[in-house]
Amino acid sequence: MQYLPLFLNLQQQRCLVVGGGEVAARKLELLIKAGVDITVVALNIVPRVAELQKQHNLAIKLKAFEPDDIQNVQLVVAATDNTTLNAGIAAQSKALGVWVNVVDRPDLGNFIFPAIIDRSPLMVAVASGGASPVLTRLLRGKIESAIPSAFGKLAELADQFRPLVKQRISYPPQRRIFWERVLQGPIAELVFSGRMAQAEKLLAETVQQAQDQHQRGEVYLIGAGPGDPDLLTFKALRLMQQADVIVYDRLVAPAIVDLARRDAEKIYVGKERDNHSLPQDSINELLAQQALAGKRVARLKGGDPFIFGRGGEEIETLLQYGISFQVVPGVTAASGCASYSGIPLTHRDHAQSCTFVTGHLKDGTINLNWPQLAAPRQTVVIYMGLQGLPVICEQLLAHGCQPDHPVAIIQKGTTAEQKIVTGNLTNIQERVSAAALQSPTLIIVGTVVELHEKLNWFD
Ligand code: SAH
Repeated sequence: MQYLPLFLNLQQQRCLVVGGGEVAARKLELLIKAGVDITVVALNIVPRVAELQKQHNLAIKLKAFEPDDIQNVQLVVAATDNTTLNAGIAAQSKALGVWVNVVDRPDLGNFIFPAIIDRSPLMVAVASGGASPVLTRLLRGKIESAIPSAFGKLAELADQFRPLVKQRISYPPQRRIFWERVLQGPIAELVFSGRMAQAEKLLAETVQQAQDQHQRGEVYLIGAGPGDPDLLTFKALRLMQQADVIVYDRLVAPAIVDLARRDAEKIYVGKERDNHSLPQDSINELLAQQALAGKRVARLKGGDPFIFGRGGEEIETLLQYGISFQVVPGVTAASGCASYSGIPLTHRDHAQSCTFVTGHLKDGTINLNWPQLAAPRQTVVIYMGLQGLPVICEQLLAHGCQPDHPVAIIQKGTTAEQKIVTGNLTNIQERVSAAALQSPTLIIVGTVVELHEKLNWFD
């Protein structure tokens, strides 16, 4: 992170703007809105700046910049059209420990003006650190259109009722739930449609009715997909952002955990292969205890919670305690890996069915229905199969698959580290060893693998 986002209260603080052109005028308008005490130093000024001076009583000194101008100011904006001068102003400001921005040259100063979406008191700031102003603008446009213009009014209303709500509902998680309901429910709708008085009345009633009771929490069993955060569902994201506690394991990408509420407690429960850092029983119990303490718990699972995810076991414990829960499906590794490697799992010319199996080795064998899996015109997807690959190939060959029957192994599918090794039942082990694959990996067996070369789009 090259820039730390901050919101500064600069009311009545002294700020120097050097330059009197259109670029300076834009910054002046912003600083005026923020109530800053502004001095402009410029050789000459454009009409817009003159207009601002008239309206807002700006101090304007028509003269060349001198180092002394920086004395006793909190903030400097260098907005002249002379790059050498701007660089000099920046250097002198920094030497004095004064924050400085050089318009259009973020590298010279030490702070930047983000693009803003102003719904005061609610503010959203977007910046790319100068990397791509166009991207920043596009994102700003998206956010602008996603935030109703009355959001500021909603924030004001919330501010007005905050002390009262705090008094009536003392338990913070419950208070958070109260606000989430208010800010997403009928009260918010009234504000958005301009009916402020009605909104205020309804909120006052709702606060009156609010009981200070210690509520039971709930658990969201969420499929977090195979890795790419964009594959999360809207529901997964929404519940993750509501949860007070996030319980996740190794298969959940860090970028996904980062999407949770910033102040949520994050609990890692590991689960390396053969090295479960927290046994399943303890995970089940942990979820239940957190919910019983009144928290909303998001249990993030790689892929889909009901596909080799032991989601069913976690729910059974919750049922025993009478804790309410929701299950959110996710993109399972089979569909994620297949899509991102251009291998359709079914295809009219290749496979009329697709079977998901676990290749987990137990005492050197894998207990699967081999005659069924070796039959033609189907795709077999094997989860947790890398260790058992020799056994898998051996068994499929023994039950009638051809030696040249295609196999693909996909490492870390849908992520930037995705890697695909293809081959057949006789040479795949050698190729996998040479490629030194890292877990997690998924095995796809079937002639659909031949389509990879033609349909691959991801890497
Ligand atoms: N519930 C998960 C599966 C958990 S079992 C799901 O629906 O996807 C763990 C196995 O899933 C791993 O051993 C691996 O075979 C597979 N897997 C999960 N994510 C993967 C990924 N990004 N790439 C390849 N395989 C993956």
